[in-house]
Formats: sequence, structure tokens, C-alpha cells
Amino acid sequence: MDSVEYEYRTGIGTDIHQLIADKPLMLGGVEVPFECGLLAHSDGDVVLHAVIDAILGAAGLGDIGTLFPDTDPEWKDADSRDLVLLVRERVKKDRWEIVNLDVIVHAQRPKLGPYKGQIKRAVAGLLDTDFSNVNIKAKTNEGLDAVGEGKAIASTAMVLLRRRVKRRL
Ligand code: MG
Repeated sequence: MDSVEYEYRTGIGTDIHQLIADKPLMLGGVEVPFECGLLAHSDGDVVLHAVIDAILGAAGLGDIGTLFPDTDPEWKDADSRDLVLLVRERVKKDRWEIVNLDVIVHAQRPKLGPYKGQIKRAVAGLLDTDFSNVNIKAKTNEGLDAVGEGKAIASTAMVLLRRRVKRRL
């Protein structure tokens, strides 16, 4: 007789990019209206990069830099949404599913309150998980450090994955 149980793994990811003028600001796959965007080899979407690292960490698959090296021209100007889809398929191969994902966006400006719902929908859609499994929080850094001075935006993500394990009784 078999009984189904789950194996659980947590993962954490962080990212930070510098704000520069005249680039679209992509956060969680959503273009947020602002006069600056994030300097990076890719679109600089710190939210999706933190989410990718959290998922790869939980699945024991290294980090974003290993899968998508910034020295590889293939990932130059990459749309981070495409990277999330690749990671999603990779972890699905190992039968992992998302239990929940909690994300913090650290930004002094712009105010992200009005966009949190949209980012949550976009991230849940990219990960093919229920809307209720994703939580997005936005915080300023109280005027302190590069984020607080409005020079950068950072993100922290934590995820819980699970997969079925068959145990023979
Ligand atoms: Mg990054």
C-alpha cells in the first residue's frame, strides 16, 4: 500500500539594481510608470530575479547567474519573464510546485501601493500558481542607503515548494 506525503523546501532570493534615466521600470513583469529604470544586462527586473533565485534555491538548482550568465550574449536585454518561464519548466521537471511565495520590493520611489495587485497577478501568472499563493509587499528604506536615497531598487523573495513523495507502508 502507498501513502502520499509531501517533501517541502524553502528558498530565499535577493537582488538589487541601480536606477538609471530613460529606461522602462520593470517590477514583477509589470511596467511601472517612472522616470527611471534599472541598469542591468537584462531588463533589470529585481523582483523576478529575486523570485528566480528563491525558487532555484529551494529546488537545489544553484542561482540565476549559473543558469543565465551575464557574460552570455544570449541573455543580453533578456525579458526576465522569459527567464521565469524557463525556471518554472525546469523545477516542474523535478515535480516541484509552489506552496507560497512572499516578496518584498524595497523602493523609496515610485510609490508601489497602486501596483502591488498587478504585480501579484503577473507573478502568479508567470509561475502558473494560484493568485492567493503570492504576496507582494512594498517598503521604503526610510531614506537610508542607496535604496533609501532613490539610487536603486532591491527585492527579497522567499518561497516554499513541495513535491509528492510516495512512501510504501
Ligand atoms: Mg538582477
